[in-house]
Amino acid sequence: MSFADRDGYIWVDGKLVDWRDAKVHLLTHTLHYGSGVFEGVRAYDTGAMGTCIFRLDDHTNRLFNSAKTIHMTIPFDRATINAAHCQVVRANELKEAYIRPLVYFGSEGMGLRAQELQVHVGIAAWEWPSYMDPEAREKGIKVKLSTYKRQVKNPVSNAKVNGNYVHSIVALTEALEDGFDEALMLDADGYVAEGSGENFFIVKDGKLYSPFLDSCLDGITRKTIIDLAMELKIPFQEKKITVEDVFDADESFFSGTAAEVVPINSLDNQKIGSGLRGPVTEKLQKTYFDQVRGEREANNGWHTFTN
Ligand SMILES: *Cc1c(COP(=O)(O)O)cnc(C)c1O
Repeated sequence: MSFADRDGYIWVDGKLVDWRDAKVHLLTHTLHYGSGVFEGVRAYDTGAMGTCIFRLDDHTNRLFNSAKTIHMTIPFDRATINAAHCQVVRANELKEAYIRPLVYFGSEGMGLRAQELQVHVGIAAWEWPSYMDPEAREKGIKVKLSTYKRQVKNPVSNAKVNGNYVHSIVALTEALEDGFDEALMLDADGYVAEGSGENFFIVKDGKLYSPFLDSCLDGITRKTIIDLAMELKIPFQEKKITVEDVFDADESFFSGTAAEVVPINSLDNQKIGSGLRGPVTEKLQKTYFDQVRGEREANNGWHTFTN
């Protein structure tokens, strides 16, 4: 079923429109140049308390920061954008949802200059059970060391800017064509950066490590995992991780809103640790799911109820 041909509603520039009517013209600036920003947000069913969007303020703040990196002014305030997220979840009667806000330039001009273009906002929500299959949560995934490097270090590359993702898509396509589940990209200096759309962690001798933020996106799931690790008394450190460090690690996993927490069982067909989900990964994964499903104490502002 195509994403363009579904029942429901999408929030576009301040109001809900029928799903099938949420269209753009072929000569939309962002479609040609990738000159837009987006987010990936999840809402979870917390049971008695209803549906809850996880860390919405953080996602919305990052959306505004991403826009700032490309000198784009979002024509709504943060409260309106937050309320719109809740509105699309309710309008589509979703108990759990993946929510996709997109901010894009209109079709007032086809050259590269973007100052005079109108800025539009669309927010869609749909049911999207983990992007990795449920078995992967337990057994982990096979990862290929990508031949594609993560883009150079600058504020635009480290924001959720549409145009950046062509690199991720090519890296992922290459990995899938070679029979893997995901790609792991290195930065320009040859240190491990991240997956196509997920942050990367290793565990060695009970300690948790992740690359520095200059070579990966400042993931909200990454931040959550680091906070939970501190709570669980698992030491954490940022590190320039080499490929040898990965092969030498006891455990490894990816984190992201879409992928959630996914163990990595091998890199280039070489087992990492035992080749099974490790105990630290399992503990963090379980704690993460308990947190997003409201089964742990609500952490400061992490939960926004949609009802
Ligand atoms: C969105 C994204 C992530 C994960 O960020 P979350 O905030 O955890 O969803 C990681 N890497 C890249 C390149 C991303 O675009």
